[in-house]
Formats: sequence, structure tokens, C-alpha cells
Amino acid sequence: QPIVLLGGGAREHAMAWKLTRDGATVHVLPGNGGIPNSHPDISATDFPAIRQFCEAHGVQLIVVGPEAPLAAGVVDFFAGSAIRVFGPDRAGAVLESSKVWSKSFMRRHGVATAQSWQYRSDQIGEARAKAAELHGQVVVKYDGLAAGKGVYVCSSVAEAEQALTDLQAEHTGWFSFLLEEKLSGPEISIIGVTDGNRIRLLAPSQDHKQLLAGDLGPNTGGMGAYCPVPFCDDNVLAAIRTDIIDPTLRGLQHEQFSFRGFLYFGIMLTPQGPKLLEYNVRLGDPEAEVLLPALESSLLELIEATLDGKLQQTVVRQRRGTYVGVVLASGGYPAAQFPTGFPITGLDQLHPSILAFHGATRRTAAGELVTAGGRVLVLVGSGEDLEEAVAHVYREAESVKFQDVYLRTDIGQRPEPTLAG
Ligand code: ATP
Repeated sequence: QPIVLLGGGAREHAMAWKLTRDGATVHVLPGNGGIPNSHPDISATDFPAIRQFCEAHGVQLIVVGPEAPLAAGVVDFFAGSAIRVFGPDRAGAVLESSKVWSKSFMRRHGVATAQSWQYRSDQIGEARAKAAELHGQVVVKYDGLAAGKGVYVCSSVAEAEQALTDLQAEHTGWFSFLLEEKLSGPEISIIGVTDGNRIRLLAPSQDHKQLLAGDLGPNTGGMGAYCPVPFCDDNVLAAIRTDIIDPTLRGLQHEQFSFRGFLYFGIMLTPQGPKLLEYNVRLGDPEAEVLLPALESSLLELIEATLDGKLQQTVVRQRRGTYVGVVLASGGYPAAQFPTGFPITGLDQLHPSILAFHGATRRTAAGELVTAGGRVLVLVGSGEDLEEAVAHVYREAESVKFQDVYLRTDIGQRPEPTLAG
């Protein structure tokens, strides 16, 4: 049956790959140079054009990759029509799009999270005083979508002062922001599929956000990921369920959300137990690129069961082994500008067990595959354990080439943390 998938990055390539294996014919709007059945002329937020496309192609199911169409109300736009959309409506998407709102939701429903204080843009002085009281061990968070630039993690009073100054300089007009206590511990991503009442979890995964090895340098959209996470064992998962997931579901029910989609919990495992840093209302990128190959069950069936209210009867099975995804990025990323348009070679030499998901690629008029942005490709390899998967994917990554290619050399190789309790 034909379905439409919205988005155009490596996450969407992984989603399209999985849904195709599950038996669907997938049209990707807009897609990219490497995703089969891409339609570059239709934007993921042009809802009337998407409706027209669905009607012309007999599509009755839309699956959403990125946040933008959800925050813009794609679910609301198609509500009441014959076309079903997998994802939260605009009201549900606020769990991700407003940090102030999601923090107050966590607080109302007893979700374990960092202590925080909310301010308006005319209360910078008060925020300064609070940051000093906390010896600068704070995180400043702009309320709203800031393309990954709205969070300042500080380690001294001077840094906190600077963060508040930068915050003021970056944003004009009236805004809100949060000051949070700074937590410490390893971070993990827990992503599930929920109908608002129940949730079925995919494997625990870990992202690598910073540009440079050793988690140094500027933040990026993500330089790699792996799953499952060895130290996220049953005990850790049980605590996450009790302290974070269950209260979230109770909150969604209590506040009568209509939430049918992916729900992502960004969690820090602190000495005081797991704490929720943020919700996302979609699959993570690059987490999706490892989670979907690791998922043995049909994603299509999982999505349909959710929309039909049959999640209760659905079991999610994972494949054995570990999956590691390494991002091949353009040199210069994540700066505002860097050169692109370089030919990509070597994809045909990859071992057949390696998956190559396309992010920022494009085909030229002559049909040549070239780079078209920051995160160009994600290579995914698997193995019996993390070590084997890491060795496999890095060995293969050497054959893919384009000018100024950059990759982190330590994906999946953080030292094993010691967890309290
Ligand atoms: P994302 O790109 O993951 O969507 P975001 O910009 O929406 O990020 P958060 O996830 O809230 O923002 O924070 C980004 C990062 O900042 C986290 O991954 C974490 O490393 C760090 N961080 C956030 N809150 C805290 C906290 N209270 N204590 C310590 N570090 C934090």
C-alpha cells in the first residue's frame, strides 16, 4: 500500500528503507538525492500540495520524520479526512517546541527532571542573581525552537553571565527562558511509539552531539549513534519507566492529549537517578538510523496498530547484536557556511551488510551524486557486540570518499560509566 513519508534526511532514508522492507510503497516528500522515490518539488510543510499528492497516488497514511511539519500542524490539517497521519497534533508537538511548557508539564505530573526557574526576557537581572546563587552551575534554555542554539551549559558564574548576555543578544523582542540546575551523568535516548495510553519502546540508544572526538567542540545535529546501550540494563530501564515514562503517559491521559506517534525521552542518568532533559515528538536523528535496522518487528504494523488503538496487543522484537551509525560530514560543518557540491565515491564498494543512509546528498543534472549540506551520509554497521560493530563500520567508512570528508573516530567508544545505585 502506498504511503507518504515527510522529510529529507538520513533519518527519513532509514524510515523509508524500513517501511519498504515492511511491504509499503514509500513516497518521500521531499526526500533527497539518495532516497528512492523522492519528490524534491514538494516541501514537507506544504500541506495542500501534500494532500494533492496523496489524492493523486491513493495514499491514506502519512508518516512524519522531522518536527517542523508536526509543529506546523500537519496532523490537525488532515484531521477528519480519510488520510491518517502518524504523529502528535500541534497541541502535542508543544512537548518539544516549548521548553517552558514541557517543563511545567513534567512538574505537574511528577516526571523526574532538573530543578528549574522560569524568567521573561525583562528578568535577566533576577536570572543573574539565581545563577550566582547556584555558583554558575546552571543551564540556560531559550523557550522555543532555536535550531540547537538555545541551550547554554555553564560551569562558572562568568559563563552563566555570558550565556545570559548572549541569550539577550541572539533574540529580539519578548521571550521566555529557563534556568536549570546543571546535572551530570551519561545521556541516553529512549524512544517509543505511543497512542497516548501505552508505549512500546525501541532499543535504548546513545547519540554523539559534539563535533569532535571526546565530546569536545561545538554541538551538531549528531555525529553518530549506537544501540542498544550496554549499561542501560533492566534496572535502569525500570527506574526510567517508573520515574519518567509512566508519569508522562498519565499526564498525556489526564490532559487529554491525542498523541499517536513517536515519543523521545532525552535522559541523563544522574547519581540521583534518571532525569528527563527533554521530550522530542519524533524519532531522533541519528538514533533512527541505528534503531530501525535493529528493529526486527514491522514498523508499518507498529504504526498501524497505534493508529487503530491496538498497541496493547503488539509486541516489539529487536534483532540481536549492536548497531553503530557514523556520520560522514562536510568539512566546515556545523559553521553557517562551508563548500558543498563535491562528488561522492565508493558507496558501491561497501560490504553488503553496511547500510548507507543519505542525508545531505543531491544528484546533479548529469546524475552524479554530490554533497549538499552538513551531514552527508550515515553508515551503519552491526556486530555481535559494540566492539565488533564499531570495528566493522570504521573499516568500511574508509572506502567512501568526498572532498574534505569529516567523521568522528570515537562513536560508540565512550568509557563505560559507573552508575550509582
Ligand atoms: P536537542 O538538540 O537534543 O533537541 P535541545 O537544544 O532541544 O537539544 P536539550 O536537549 O534540552 O536542548 O539540551 C541539549 C543538551 O544540553 C543536552 O543533550 C545535555 O547535554 C545538555 N543539558 C540540557 N539540560 C541539562 C541539565 N539540566 N544539566 C546538564 N546538561 C544539560
